Amino acid sequence: MPELPEIETIRHALLKHLPGKRIDKILVRDARLRWPVDENKLNQLLVGNEVTTIDRRSKYLLVRLQKESTLILHLGMSGQLLYITESRPFEKHDHVIFYLDDATELRFRDPRRFGMVDAIAPGGEADYPRLAKLGAEPLDESLQAKALYERAKKLTRPIKNLLMDANFIVGVGNIYANESLFYAGIRPDKPAGDIAAKQWPVLLDCIQNVLTEAIKKGGTTLNDFVNSNGEGGYFQLELAVYGRVEEPCLKCGATIQRIVQTGRSTFFCPTCQR
Ligand SMILES: [Zn+2]
Repeated sequence: MPELPEIETIRHALLKHLPGKRIDKILVRDARLRWPVDENKLNQLLVGNEVTTIDRRSKYLLVRLQKESTLILHLGMSGQLLYITESRPFEKHDHVIFYLDDATELRFRDPRRFGMVDAIAPGGEADYPRLAKLGAEPLDESLQAKALYERAKKLTRPIKNLLMDANFIVGVGNIYANESLFYAGIRPDKPAGDIAAKQWPVLLDCIQNVLTEAIKKGGTTLNDFVNSNGEGGYFQLELAVYGRVEEPCLKCGATIQRIVQTGRSTFFCPTCQR
């Protein structure tokens, strides 16, 4: 499943190709994605408009168009976006095709169909159900550690579970939560409310560094084939603690331990993480 760094990498790749191009036509070959694709809505809101830029919220790509309509895409478990410059036969799972005014195409391919293709009318984003309840955006420059502290200070849930909760903060998957807590020196099973106000800026810094590093590693592999399950993201991230059970801690040499929290593996150093 693509994580936030992969989506950010894809966003950067699309930014090289899409802005300034107009969507001339949309072909829905198969509407049966996670939510049915509404072809009429896509046509009404998107066709004839030029792409201005591409934003991201959590793992949703937001393709901004003239007249302030938005194409929203989610890659689900197996979605891919292909930017096609020469005519190529459709493959079985090419579900939605966006024809651009320079004879190139953007194809949404998704074998497992957990992805999403939809359009948002001008002004409709605040009420859009799948965006409305999302938590903080970790790479948003305006995000304050103090706001996270205020929301967490009365919670007894383990901090790692809270970091993986998209209603609290988005995009911190299991590996990123493990790594961030290691760098911050915080035990993953510590109650979130026990983390002091002064520790939150450190933790937020660590989350941002881990995600930024993953984006950098994922940023070199994409060309005109923009995919979600290629080489990007954490596959190339050098992991400091995740998966290193029984190995020595990189900071202090103590033995890394593994526990299971809500069904997910947690790795930590019992000496460095308190
Ligand atoms: Zn250690």
